[in-house]
Amino acid sequence: MFNLYIPVCGFFCALLLCICFFSKKRIKNNETKIFSWMLITSFLDCILMVSIITIAYLFKEQIFLLKILNKIDYIQFLVWIWLLFLYVYYISVQGKEKGERAYQKTFQYTSVLTAVEAVLIVAFPVELFNTGKTMYSYGTSANLLYAFCGIDILFILLAIFLNSKSFKNKKYLPFYVFMVFAIVVMLLRIINPGLVIVTAVLAYCNLVMYFTIENPDMKMVEQLNIEKERAEKANHAKTEFLSNMSHEIRTPLNAIVGFSQALMEEDLPPSAKEEISDILMSSNNLLEIVNGILDISKIEANRLEIVNTEYNSHKLMKDIQTLIKGRIGDKPLEFRSYIDASMPPVLFGDFVRIKQIIINLLTNAVKYTKEGFVEFKVDTVIQGEICRLIISVEDSGIGIKLEDIDKLFRKFERFELEKNITTEGTGLGLAITKSLVELMNGKIVVQSIYGKGSKFTVALDQRIIPKDIHELEGEGEEIEDFSCFGAKVLVVDDNKINLKVAKRLLRDYQIEPDLVLSGQECIDKVLEGTQYDLILMDDMMPHMSGTQTLQNLKNIIGFHTPVIALTANAISGMKEKYIANGFNDYLSKPINQKDLSIALQKYLKKSEKKLEEGKIEVQEEPKKDISYLKEQGFDVDHGIELLSDLDTYEMTLEGFLEESETRIPKMEQFKQAKDAANYAILAHAMKSDAKYLGIMTLADLALQHEMAGKENRMDYIEEHYQELMNEVEKDIAIIKNYLGK
Ligand code: ADP
Repeated sequence: MFNLYIPVCGFFCALLLCICFFSKKRIKNNETKIFSWMLITSFLDCILMVSIITIAYLFKEQIFLLKILNKIDYIQFLVWIWLLFLYVYYISVQGKEKGERAYQKTFQYTSVLTAVEAVLIVAFPVELFNTGKTMYSYGTSANLLYAFCGIDILFILLAIFLNSKSFKNKKYLPFYVFMVFAIVVMLLRIINPGLVIVTAVLAYCNLVMYFTIENPDMKMVEQLNIEKERAEKANHAKTEFLSNMSHEIRTPLNAIVGFSQALMEEDLPPSAKEEISDILMSSNNLLEIVNGILDISKIEANRLEIVNTEYNSHKLMKDIQTLIKGRIGDKPLEFRSYIDASMPPVLFGDFVRIKQIIINLLTNAVKYTKEGFVEFKVDTVIQGEICRLIISVEDSGIGIKLEDIDKLFRKFERFELEKNITTEGTGLGLAITKSLVELMNGKIVVQSIYGKGSKFTVALDQRIIPKDIHELEGEGEEIEDFSCFGAKVLVVDDNKINLKVAKRLLRDYQIEPDLVLSGQECIDKVLEGTQYDLILMDDMMPHMSGTQTLQNLKNIIGFHTPVIALTANAISGMKEKYIANGFNDYLSKPINQKDLSIALQKYLKKSEKKLEEGKIEVQEEPKKDISYLKEQGFDVDHGIELLSDLDTYEMTLEGFLEESETRIPKMEQFKQAKDAANYAILAHAMKSDAKYLGIMTLADLALQHEMAGKENRMDYIEEHYQELMNEVEKDIAIIKNYLGK
């Protein structure tokens, strides 16, 4: 029974391995699959060997049975070696081009070969030496087994050579272990042929594999690491893509927005202005989408920072109200707002992001409400130096289904798409809003009744600053029109259209900039000795980037000109990056007029004296009194907001007078001819003009006429025609009065 010890040990070892291995969660790949079969084969072989030895000891005369069992043992051994070969081969071709196919083919051929070998082993005779104490087998069948194993070992070596670069690949370890064991077994067999050790060797080989390369936990961790790396790479690629996309989209947008803004200031008929304003609005929408995607990517990469400053709380809420009134546009929506008058005037927080949060909620309320009201409310609870802002946005819109509420704040989720087919959106707004609120340690809740309306409430804690609004830096002082006449400005951009846009925008400040198309030309200009007051420099330029150009400029002795980075790359942290790289400031494209104004004011102050000289030549028109218009019910602020400045507003008033001279007789004609369609077109134009000018009563009346015209309701038109005419005549009189005509 001495023979039994080693196989029994092998059996327990194999059993334990099987339990450990199969009870764990495993990765399903070819390697692990092969290893599972190696474990099963070795386990079965151990059982078989223990049985053979027991039978040989107890029933010596059962020669036939013992011979059959021995042959099964040979076959199991053969299969195990074949599996070892497959394992090594798979590792050698893994990851290579067509590797998977090569493996499948090899698997097919070698399985046929192994089957043939097994048949031969069964067919040829085996002899037994059995004394009851010592037992071993020999004969042709056994010799064939040795020969076939030899062939398999050759194959394995070939497979390793195939992957000649990595002999050291630790995944070949089981094979090396097996070879060492095989040599030891051969030597031991010479000394003692009755030593039944082979099955245990297989189990020990498996054991080594388990603890080195096939441990499921380890493999899982390895796989997770690979997946993590892959995800990080993908995320990096995504951020890169977003950054590029932002650049690519912002560059043409820069031209669209820049020229449209410039055109708005030209002397054009109101209808053309309306179209330009539509272009501006669409471009701004597109910009908002790009910014939304950028924000989400920043949030996901934990790169969105909350920047707290002191701000004027009442002004913030007022700005929001004005902006939303503009967005309500034509919609028959009542906009109600209640701002707690006891809100401390100066608070400390990130007002840019607070504005973004409220605007997102209000824009949604307007978007998803056809009629009724939108209510914006700000309540405050003051505790010590903290003011809790309780901001609520309520609407009488489509509402949200209960089952959608949970998904509301997930990105790219949009509901009721069949109903909202025409409502634009990306499904990012609320995801961003929630993240921003949470970044500020605030809370957001939503209540909604499907079909009736929704209410979003946000609670944000802000620190109270015991200051007066006038003490706030930069606050309160509206940027007034100013001139930088005589200032020397250089604009560097490889894109000619961008140069044109910059030139056009700077014209409003009486600046005639020098324009160059590359970093090298910029350096040449400076070396020529031109003393610039300011350089606006694009960063992404071929050959020499803006950053490199700046480094070169800084090496020029006596160079002290402020340089502003001008780039379409608006990914997070850019401002900090550019300032760290030595730029004085950063302007993102499309250039925002207000930002440009602020920058010019900041960096061209020293040119102010020259400006004064320039200004003397400009004939100042006598100031008209806007308050007169306001008293007459004109929403001048709204008009100026839409038309960007008072000059344009006044030009539009003039345009309105001119248009009316022809428009009113034509409307009369169309009414007489019962041509409702053409009447509607003129009523629409009247409504648009009135809206731009903030003449809301007229806009409302004209809208009713436009609708009636579109629906061919001549009776309404006839009945209310005089009412409209009375209103328009009254407004014309007011405008003439104001313009002094
Ligand atoms: P977007 O408005 O760009 O689609 P949001 O993230 O802002 O994306 O909103 C996600 C979805 O939530 C919207 O598509 C809409 O279905 C729903 N939703 C948001 N606000 C409201 C609201 N005030 N009333 C009804 N549905 C809303």
